Amino acid sequence: MQGRITIDGERCKACLFCIELCPKKSISLSEELNLKGYFIAVFDGVDGGPTECNGCGTCALMCPEVAIEVVRV
Ligand code: SF4
Ligand code: SF4
Repeated sequence: MQGRITIDGERCKACLFCIELCPKKSISLSEELNLKGYFIAVFDGVDGGPTECNGCGTCALMCPEVAIEVVRV
């Protein structure tokens, strides 16, 4: 199974839960700030690479800000 996620950067509070819990290391913290002044999490799942998202949904489940949506493809 493969997946994609979208992250609503304005909801993100840089808690790092999604980054730490993603089994594929598909998410990282960017250098981009949102309007609240937090660096935002971004999706870096590269198709066919070791960071390819598997659509497990862990990130969306764990995000306290409900900022992540997962699409399974
Ligand atoms: S759905 Fe799973 S593999 Fe994909 S980014 Fe979220 S935690 Fe990582
Ligand atoms: S879990 Fe949510 S709030 Fe925390 S870093 Fe990830 S997207 Fe941002």
